[in-house]
Amino acid sequence: MRLSVASHILEFAGDDPPDIAWTGDGGEIVRPPNFQILEVVDCRNVTPHMRRLTFAGENVARFAGLDALHFNLMIQHPDVMEPQWPHVGANGVISWDQPDLRPIMRKYTVRSVDMAAGTLDVDFVLHADAGPGSAFAQTAAVGDRVGVIGPGGGGLVAADWYLFASDETALPAIGRMLEHLPAGARGKAYVEVSDEGEAQDLSAPPAIDIEWLFRKGRADDAPSQLVDAVKGVKFPGGDQRIHVWAGCEFKTFRAIRAFLRNERRLTNMEHLVVSYWRSGRAEEE
Ligand SMILES: Cc1cc2nc3c(=O)[nH]c(=O)nc-3n(C[C@H](O)[C@H](O)[C@H](O)COP(=O)(O)OP(=O)(O)OC[C@H]3O[C@@H](n4cnc5c(N)ncnc54)[C@H](O)[C@@H]3O)c2cc1C
Repeated sequence: MRLSVASHILEFAGDDPPDIAWTGDGGEIVRPPNFQILEVVDCRNVTPHMRRLTFAGENVARFAGLDALHFNLMIQHPDVMEPQWPHVGANGVISWDQPDLRPIMRKYTVRSVDMAAGTLDVDFVLHADAGPGSAFAQTAAVGDRVGVIGPGGGGLVAADWYLFASDETALPAIGRMLEHLPAGARGKAYVEVSDEGEAQDLSAPPAIDIEWLFRKGRADDAPSQLVDAVKGVKFPGGDQRIHVWAGCEFKTFRAIRAFLRNERRLTNMEHLVVSYWRSGRAEEE
């Protein structure tokens, strides 16, 4: 609460920010409450371009619910000697010892949580033109420590019939959601990856049909097949509750969202389409 109030005051104060001093409970808080340090305890490849890191932490329970799917991973700036972690300043705002060398943030999904072991898994796409996130996963070793801020993200909406569409970046999210659907859930899931070697065994209710789409053999700049796949789906009629969930590259996100809103006339409750990355652009911080 202090952070959100103080950052709004400073945002609207413009060039003449006031000093902010807090009194009362919570003065002992020195780290953001949604921050924790995780330690890498295992690294392995699930497929040639998907690297799974297992992290141990004090409070993995925070990521146990389906409404707690994502976090911001702090990748240390290459020029720092010691890892930098965020402080909560006396004014309630997050501060850094070396603000110019603060960590780089990237969004990732908690693929699974093992409450008994106190660990969680994150699947990282090892993509071309590797940025800090992909490079971190490629070189991470047991014992490495990372900061995370989270969780964030909405839960899975209850429906009778589902349509999922994702590329490999949203495959961890879809994989986790499919595992948690009620046994009687029906629908379709399209996942587009580079080739057969990147397909994974996903566990899902029997009436969810999973179809893999492969980019191999197509031109590098060919549009994603997810758009036509979604357009070609026959939606159930009647009063069935439907929900469409898609996570993919920005252009594909725009095309799918426009189709669902303008052609299918789905309500906000009936669809969630998210841009997970943008071709040719690093994630903004
Ligand atoms: C809510 C949410 C959850 C996410 N969960 C996951 C997850 O669990 N696992 C995961 O791997 N990703 C996930 N992503 C996507 C991930 O955050 C982006 O791919 C991010 O850009 C990776 O950061 P980077 O530092 O590797 O590359 P950046 O520094 O952001 O980008 C460097 C270059 O790489 C390109 N690039 C980025 N991602 C890809 C890609 N997937 N394929 C090809 N080129 C790419 C960019 O266009 C840019 O040219 C998630 C995104 C969101 C919004």
